[in-house]
Amino acid sequence: MEKFPEDTPALHADLIIHDAYVVTMDQKYRLFEKGAVAVANGIIVAVGNTRDVLERYGAARMIDGRKMLLMPGLVNTHTHSPMTIFRGYADDIPLKQWLYDHIFPVESAFVLPENVRLGTKLALAEMIRSGTTTFNDMYYHSDEVAGVVDKAGMRAVLTEGLIDFPVPNSPTPADALRFSEEMIQAYRPHPLITVGVSVHSVYSASSLVYQQAFELAGKYGVPFNTHLAETRWEFDLIMDRYGVTPARYLDDIGVLGKGLILAHAVHLTDSDMELVALRGAGVAHNPQCNMKLASGVAPIPRLLELGVTVGLGTDGVASNNDLDMFDEMRSCAFSHKITQMDPTVMDARTVLEVATIGGARLLGMDAQIGSLEPGKRADMILLDLNRPHAHPVYNLYSLIVYSLRGSDVHSVYVDGKPLMVNRELLTVDEADLFEQVEALARDISSHREELTAKKIGQAGVSR
Ligand SMILES: [Zn+2]
Repeated sequence: MEKFPEDTPALHADLIIHDAYVVTMDQKYRLFEKGAVAVANGIIVAVGNTRDVLERYGAARMIDGRKMLLMPGLVNTHTHSPMTIFRGYADDIPLKQWLYDHIFPVESAFVLPENVRLGTKLALAEMIRSGTTTFNDMYYHSDEVAGVVDKAGMRAVLTEGLIDFPVPNSPTPADALRFSEEMIQAYRPHPLITVGVSVHSVYSASSLVYQQAFELAGKYGVPFNTHLAETRWEFDLIMDRYGVTPARYLDDIGVLGKGLILAHAVHLTDSDMELVALRGAGVAHNPQCNMKLASGVAPIPRLLELGVTVGLGTDGVASNNDLDMFDEMRSCAFSHKITQMDPTVMDARTVLEVATIGGARLLGMDAQIGSLEPGKRADMILLDLNRPHAHPVYNLYSLIVYSLRGSDVHSVYVDGKPLMVNRELLTVDEADLFEQVEALARDISSHREELTAKKIGQAGVSR
């Protein structure tokens, strides 16, 4: 058993979960069949066999983990949490049309502070219920997102999306940049929230915006996100416009480097992949969104071979259409296997690694989270195995990635604090939440009907 340094006054832990299957995702990939984790002051102080841990630690709160599985909380490395309010708003159409004809217009009308708060709250309820403990977000009114996240006790990287046209909360990218810096400064002391920087994409933002964002992220050492090479349309557009691939373009303008998180990275050439690896940028992989919008399959196995840091993400709910990382893990494994016609690629352990410690590395948080190890923050989830699809147990990685579901999550801890116990949310109030969301959805639907009627009217006049 690993022990916490002797000089730390942690022999009495606050919380011990014992007799559970424990999947650590530490460097040795240690597994325990009757394992225990002890937590003091939000930090994991011991991980090991129950007998060994209980010999050394006692705790006020003892949780019997029999018939349960304890593992690190999942890290969702790319999402737009307030977009839960647009779940199912526009499906089954290509990305460009989806974005420009549906999402951007509805956002300009409905992305208001109160709706952002409502959407974020719905997202947090969904994420906690399905075992996510950290997420990386890009949206507008990130101050409103931060307020809700703070109350819920989730860990997050929050960013304000920079884009060349007027968007909710920012008439210009310069405003969004100023706002980002204020937010970074305001949240520097926060224990769970890190504010980073985001530029929407190479087709919607200028090189100047990228360079200014890059400088800002560098100045404070915070994560820098952008969507990149998501679709063939984007790839061809950038080739036409600049004569280089999207990845090469980012390098030419001087922003491809360590700390940059590329969401999607589907359309990369062989030399793009080598370039991304060489520069030390990372990739947030969103397999379900890429399949649903028929964007393609990101070359994740090759990127991993090249040593690129990869995390898993759901992307926003409007293009997924949920925030369940268990679902995403299964899709990740299956999509690569079928694309390569090779069942050995993206094995269950590799997928779980991408969804936990890989995501933590991508966000620059692997010293604090991503695995269950002494010294790390206690972000962990308990899964209920007392269900038919959880038996028998031959291989824990296989069980997690191929059999378990988000709805099997029983309890969730962030920084050692319970956010959900026995499927009861403790920090997000779901009372009236769904009714409020439905009421907003009715407004959004009537707005769309009015717009459609107006368009038909205009078409009639011009005829
Ligand atoms: Zn996205």
